[in-house]
Parts: sequence; structure tokens; C-alpha cells
Amino acid sequence: MQIKDPGYTNRAAVSKNRFDAVALFSGGLDSILGARLVQEQGLKVLGLHFISPFFGKPDQIDQWEDNYGIPVVAVDISREYVSMICNGPVYGMGKTLNPCVDCKILMLTLAKKMMNKLGARFIISGEVLGQRPMSQRLDTLNIIRRDSQVKDILVRALSARHLPPTRPEKDGLIDRSRLGNISGRGRKEQLKLAEKFHIKPIPTPGGGCLLTEKESSRRYLPVLEHFERPDPDEFHLANTGRQFWDDDHWLCIGRNSEDNARLEELAKENDYIFSIRSYPGPLGLGRPAGRNEWDQETIHSASWLVTRFSPRARRSSSTVQVLVKQGRHSHVVEVSRNEAEQQVKWQEPSWDPLRAKALYVPD
Ligand code: SF4
Repeated sequence: MQIKDPGYTNRAAVSKNRFDAVALFSGGLDSILGARLVQEQGLKVLGLHFISPFFGKPDQIDQWEDNYGIPVVAVDISREYVSMICNGPVYGMGKTLNPCVDCKILMLTLAKKMMNKLGARFIISGEVLGQRPMSQRLDTLNIIRRDSQVKDILVRALSARHLPPTRPEKDGLIDRSRLGNISGRGRKEQLKLAEKFHIKPIPTPGGGCLLTEKESSRRYLPVLEHFERPDPDEFHLANTGRQFWDDDHWLCIGRNSEDNARLEELAKENDYIFSIRSYPGPLGLGRPAGRNEWDQETIHSASWLVTRFSPRARRSSSTVQVLVKQGRHSHVVEVSRNEAEQQVKWQEPSWDPLRAKALYVPD
């Protein structure tokens, strides 16, 4: 497990300080309240902010520390997370590709490792009994606790008084009567607690996990279908620019200079980089998902498609030149605007629940 701490300037404090507890810290209100309920009892809490291609906002850590007084460290769990998704989540997915139960199990398993490493004694989570249909029903909360092997050391601080006492409560390390008794979908109780603890600003509810969005899940479907063992960068690539697929040929086209820079950053040795000569336009990145080499026809149609997103190249009455680089090799492809049939080859992925379901059908 790799610990990254972008922007976390007090890393030494993490190794020197003894923490009593680690808290799953997404930056959402429930995670802040969970940590604060324990901090208010005079215990030292370290927030663990997990990051992956699908969630995580490490650039907000400084702000959170200043606003909420909770030390937070970013923990990159991309490899473990992608591997869990590719192996097929044991407890299935929600409405899109979100494997919420397996996700919580993985996070708590990793939090336990960090807890041990830091010499902390328990884990805090901001889960609320009955708040979410998939991952916060009582039976599911029990499964999560059991499978991540944190039965006695997981304090669900907001709903603690609805749940059996945990070891830190029984040992008197924390006072159960000062923990929460919140349940259900509303936010009223959380907002009252936020006022009591002077929590400002109050984060807006929901959002933040790309696996819950159709727009992002549609981008991940072909990656999961065509790569046997995709790595986290494949999902970062799927998050970037416009996405087109032709069988196992994958073409990403930047929508703006930020996308173009990101594509350059994510490029690998075998990728094809398409750039338009003479006109301003987007960058294209072609990644072979199966065979390592693309045939000339595919390279030509990809070059043509990249020029479609440059207004000036699209209007040009003469042929447009596209520089195609792969590793140390490069050549120029000439395309003309009368090649409309080329677009038929390339399809933008759409969200399809049946395709998603088929991903995890046992062999
Ligand atoms: S919404 Fe995303 S981050 Fe949250 S539990 Fe589900 S999969 Fe995990």
C-alpha cells in the first residue's frame, strides 16, 4: 500500500504522533462528524482519505485540516481497488459499477493495516444505519464488519448507540453515551451535530464517486471488457477526453488543453499519439487493448476522427496532415473531409446495464 500525501506538509507528525484511532475520511459530512465525535472525547484521530481513479480529492486535504481540525493523510489504494473490481466484487454492484459493499470491506481492511502500523487502537467510520439501500442496511453493515475483520474495533460513531458496543467502548476508551444514535436517510440530526461542533463549511451531500455515475461507468465498460488486467492508469485514461472504441482499438481525444496535457502524461510506449499539423486541434491517444500494432486502415480512420474535432481542419477544403507517433517512430497521415464513412468505425461507449452484468458472469 502506498501512502501519498500531496499537500500534506506535516507528514512527520503522522509518524511521530501516536493516534488513538484512524477514521475513514471521505471529506463528506458524515465522515467529519464521525471523526469529531471521537476527537471531542479527547482522543487523537487521523483521517485516512483513500484515493483511486474513481474517488478522492487529495488537493482538498489542507483545506479540510484547516476547516475541521482533523489531520488527514491521503492513501492511494488504486491497485488494490482496480484488482477488486477486475476480480468481480463478491457482493455485486449498485445501479452502475459501484461495488459499495466490497469497497467498504476493502477500505476497512486497509484501514486496519494502517491502524496497526500507526499503533492506533480502533477505526471510526461515518456509516449511518439505514442511510443507503445497498451498503448501510443492518445485515450489510454486519457483513462488512465481518469480512474486513474489524468486528470489535470498528466504531460507527454516528449510529453507535443503535449497534452493539465495541471493544473501545467496553474498555472505557470512549464513552458510548457521547456517541451518536442516528439512523435513516435524513440529514437533520447530522446538521444539528454539525452546528453543535461549529462545522463550517458544511459539505454538500453525495457525489464524488465516479463509479456511481452512468457517464463515467459507460467509459469503464469497454476497459473492463477488453483488458484482462487493466492497471489504474487505464481508468485514468477512461476519465480523460472523448472516448471512442473500434473493437479492441481505443482512441481518446482531448476536449481542451487540460485533457491534451493529461493524455500526454498518460501515454505509454506502445500508444499512438495523433496531432494535427498546421491547424490548432486536439491531441488523440490510441491505445491497443489487444494486438500491439494497429493496421494502417485503423490509423487512418483514427487520424481522420481527430481532425473532426478541430473546427479549422474540419473546414479545410484541402487534405489535412496528421502526425502519428508511436514510441520513437512517426509518420504523417493525410486525410480529407470527404471521408465521412470513417466515423462509422468508431463508437462512443454508452451505459448498458446488461453489458455490466455480463462482466461478472462466472466462466
Ligand atoms: S459510492 Fe463509491 S466510494 Fe462510496 S462506497 Fe460506493 S463504491 Fe465506495
